[in-house]
Amino acid sequence: MSQKNSKLNPIPAMKFYGGYSQVRKKIQDIEERNKSYHLTTFGTQERMPQSLLGPTQDWAEFYRQAEALQLADAKSTSINILLTFVYEQPNGHRKFIVAHPEVYWWYFNRTLPERRCSYEVIPEGSPCCLYLDLEFQTDLNPEHNGPRMTQTLIDILIAFFHKHWELSMTKKNVLNLDSTTKVKFSRHLIFRLKDVAFHDNINAGRFMKSICGEIEDYINTDGVPFHDVLSYFKREELEELFIDTGKRRKLFIDTSVYSRNRHFRIYKATKWGKMSHLVRAKDCKFKPITESRDKELEIFLESLVSYFPEKDNLQLLELSDDIVADLTKYDSTQFRSFTQASREQYHSSPYPAIDKFIMGIVKPGTIRVSKYFEDRQLITYEIIGNRYCANVGRQHKSNNVYWIADLKNKIAYQKCHDQEDCADFRSKPIMFPDELTFIIDEEDDDIFFSVNVSCFDDSNSSDHNQSL
Ligand SMILES: [Zn+2]
Repeated sequence: MSQKNSKLNPIPAMKFYGGYSQVRKKIQDIEERNKSYHLTTFGTQERMPQSLLGPTQDWAEFYRQAEALQLADAKSTSINILLTFVYEQPNGHRKFIVAHPEVYWWYFNRTLPERRCSYEVIPEGSPCCLYLDLEFQTDLNPEHNGPRMTQTLIDILIAFFHKHWELSMTKKNVLNLDSTTKVKFSRHLIFRLKDVAFHDNINAGRFMKSICGEIEDYINTDGVPFHDVLSYFKREELEELFIDTGKRRKLFIDTSVYSRNRHFRIYKATKWGKMSHLVRAKDCKFKPITESRDKELEIFLESLVSYFPEKDNLQLLELSDDIVADLTKYDSTQFRSFTQASREQYHSSPYPAIDKFIMGIVKPGTIRVSKYFEDRQLITYEIIGNRYCANVGRQHKSNNVYWIADLKNKIAYQKCHDQEDCADFRSKPIMFPDELTFIIDEEDDDIFFSVNVSCFDDSNSSDHNQSL
């Protein structure tokens, strides 16, 4: 097996940070290279039959996750969505593979069971379903009934979905996957509701963490407190959800799985050397939203947390820090990833140093797109990820804000897309830092482009951020 892998061409490190045409050229290069080796990863000689109406056969492999995510983002279209998968090789190294899920599955499903070590990357900031990782050690919890605990938890979550968003769900919406071994109870749950997803996995995590907190508080309170969801469950049902880890007593829910670019094991995959593949649990009641003839493929596609073939219809669930629920319509323009946003920005603004300065101001948001008006010496910056408007003194709920860099007066100020309250508003200007002023005063473009912009990094701009 390792021999096959050693035949692969080394993958040169790529940089996407050039202009957009450079990016396209890089993509073409990768495609050329991959034609020769993309099948060898899984050790299968077969090739997926091509069909005109079938998914794109694009396939790219990387050793760096960021590059894989960038490519998946750049190459995805509304009808052909590419995901990033992690593949653990026999030598222990992880490879990142960008492919259409149906194509990935075709090859993955033909590899030997012991080689099926693979994960989906849940990209930061992308819509995702609610997913859960449940586990406990059997020897430390001999009295615990994992399947029953899982059913209780599903009922609780269904009730919370209804409480926050009035969504109706049943156990048919929950894909329940099992990889329990003699030593460990282990399940993955994926909640699938047609055209509904969490805004991103941070919001999904907030939902789960808030529920865990409420269960803990409820159980730790003496007497019989009333809770609009939990009071409908028997106390011993709720108490059973707590397990012993050897160090402490806690819920059997792993709440650390909602971090950035999380890897989540895919259907039928195992960890290396464990031979404990994720399979459909015996008590799984899941009914797929779109039925297909290939039942295995169907489960695989439904189990993918960040795969939505019809993204434009998505309703997005959000939960603020103080657990106020919100539901918005998916807007593709807001969901260009951060990497894509920065690429567009370099594509359209000729002044990377000013872009960087604005980026520092709008953190944790970023620039979606910028426009340069040469005659007026202005650059406009559309912002995503930060809707703070100085006019209202808080984040707007739905509309975005934008920034204007005025090259003549060497200032930047915030404006707002809210037509009602903020139509004529313009924030107090922030002066360009001296370094930037110096650069703009230089007529020579070469100096401008070769400047090291690191001097405008966080430390320099965090003050502005707060003064917003
Ligand atoms: Zn505003």
